[in-house]
Amino acid sequence: MKRDLAYRKRQIDREKSALSFSAVQNYALRFRNHTLEFFKKSKKRLDEALSWKKLDFGARLAHFKKLVKHALSFGGNDYYDVEVKHAKSDGNTLGSTDGNCINVYDKLLKNDNYDKVVEVAKHEPAHVFQIRKGDTTLSHSTVIRSIENYVHAQEDYAYYRANPIEQEAWKIGQTASENFTKTLRDMQNGYQRAA
Ligand SMILES: [Zn+2]
Repeated sequence: MKRDLAYRKRQIDREKSALSFSAVQNYALRFRNHTLEFFKKSKKRLDEALSWKKLDFGARLAHFKKLVKHALSFGGNDYYDVEVKHAKSDGNTLGSTDGNCINVYDKLLKNDNYDKVVEVAKHEPAHVFQIRKGDTTLSHSTVIRSIENYVHAQEDYAYYRANPIEQEAWKIGQTASENFTKTLRDMQNGYQRAA
């Protein structure tokens, strides 16, 4: 049975220092570099990313799946069993996961901002790492408590953002995707100069 909201909010307040922002920053930058490898290995992927606005829905979904599958290999993880699938529109939700499956919603696939795509392609795998192994900057016991006391966005948005597992995943997603398209464009210019 789910504990009542007031109880869960008190638990979240007690976890305020669970997250070390410098540790998450460091982790996120390593995750970002790992993702850049995905594009260094394939000019086709790079071209897809930089022409995201022109890709149709199916091509966007296929690209997102490859990007997430690659993200799931970060840090020597081997979560290739995690299924990535499209789920019908769910209001403002962009992605979600239970640790076994990552759902991507219409709102993300219809959005033209590729940085946002990269952000979700880091945010959801970060949740998988948290759930499956506690293999992030949070201890596994913090993750378990955070899942038990989880406040959903629809219950209270500020507390949803304060859930330790959300604070960490948001920070990872944002740091790993900041100005990402610009970095890819610089990479493409490098290819062209070399050609
Ligand atoms: Zn999340």
